[in-house]
Amino acid sequence: MTLPDGGPGGTPQSMEGKAMHALVERLYPICRSITGDGLRRTLDIIGEYVPLSVTEVPTGTTVLDWNVPKEWNIRDAYVKDPSGRRVIDFRASNLHVVGYSVPVSGTYSLEELRPHLHTLPDRPSLVPYRTSYYAETWGFCLSQDTLDGLGDGPYEVLIDSTLEDGSLTIAEHVVPGRLAEEVVISCHVCHPSLANDNLAGVAVAVALARTLREPRYTYRFLFMPGTIGAITWLALNRERLHLVRAGLTLACAGDPGPLTYKRSRRGDAEIDRAVTHVLRGREHSVLEFSPYGYDERQFCSPGFNLPFGGLTRTPYAGYPEYHTSGDNPGFVTPAAMEDTLDALKQVVEVLEGDGTYVNLSPYGEPQLGRRGLYESLGGRSDTKQAQMAMLWVLNLSDGEHSLLDISRRSKLPFADVKAAAEALLDAGLMEEKR
Ligand code: ZN
Repeated sequence: MTLPDGGPGGTPQSMEGKAMHALVERLYPICRSITGDGLRRTLDIIGEYVPLSVTEVPTGTTVLDWNVPKEWNIRDAYVKDPSGRRVIDFRASNLHVVGYSVPVSGTYSLEELRPHLHTLPDRPSLVPYRTSYYAETWGFCLSQDTLDGLGDGPYEVLIDSTLEDGSLTIAEHVVPGRLAEEVVISCHVCHPSLANDNLAGVAVAVALARTLREPRYTYRFLFMPGTIGAITWLALNRERLHLVRAGLTLACAGDPGPLTYKRSRRGDAEIDRAVTHVLRGREHSVLEFSPYGYDERQFCSPGFNLPFGGLTRTPYAGYPEYHTSGDNPGFVTPAAMEDTLDALKQVVEVLEGDGTYVNLSPYGEPQLGRRGLYESLGGRSDTKQAQMAMLWVLNLSDGEHSLLDISRRSKLPFADVKAAAEALLDAGLMEEKR
């Protein structure tokens, strides 16, 4: 195994857009579901990029109000026409089988098959993505165009699957920080051949994890099946959820649309303020919390009410390729994934660098020249902006305003405000609020 940008054992290096896209393409063919070997194979591959700790939770385990379901695995599936040709073929695309289909073997006329066939009449060239996790049934998905071309049959039908006791798999990658408090990034990994939802999110999360070096906070990356995975993780980690300082669900991270942030249930948590501030300089939209969407639904359920927002590009169900064969690696771009990664790096910079300070010389402006602070700005091309940052930090550092607050109010980049604060600390003009 050769990593796209280095090798195992060496210092992790950053992943560029092309490397993220290559990971999407590598994971795309695997038939994932909320349980099973496709999910495990996916986690094995992610584990080549960032070390994972994997937990298997047995079928039947009670997790909050749910139970871990039976494990589903599939080897092959088809519908063959009277000439023996596979007119619907799992090997061509795993979207052709309804996820969690029970095994089937028999001969059916087209009329008998119809209740088991799913199409998108309004997008006739696309194959839909369908699942039936909690009702035991079977089915095939195909394009309306293919269905329109089918004769009366009879058809030989096979779904070579198993649905039996096993386990549900969840995986975590932890970057230890100086503090035990955690920033959590969660990605669902239960969808089969769909690229934006959510292999792009996985690739961006992996890339972000590889940029972190001795951070202040501990960073925890969760790769889990949607809904039941998050519910299982919450059930297993109930005693340590007080350590979660900020969280994000990351999905749909590679489509060409602008970034969208969905606020946490709290609405004004640190993560909400950090992400909305970072997005200010970009085309973007901000959505208020709603109890629908991705796993922020679980993290923000009222009993937990964790400070979890959701970051996507085009949001949940907001593009015609969503949950169809149109959501393939051609739909996600290296540039869009790089842009998502860049925004996340800035969010990390804000979370890591924020703090609240007290100006020790608050009566009149302190004399900056005497302390060499003007000279320290002299060589910069943006001297004026750096000087403004210093004045804003001095003025608002009354123990009530954090650097992020100051950055928002002054409309100056967080990095400039942070640099000013460090210079003022070095000069002995401020101290950290205790
Ligand atoms: Zn989805």
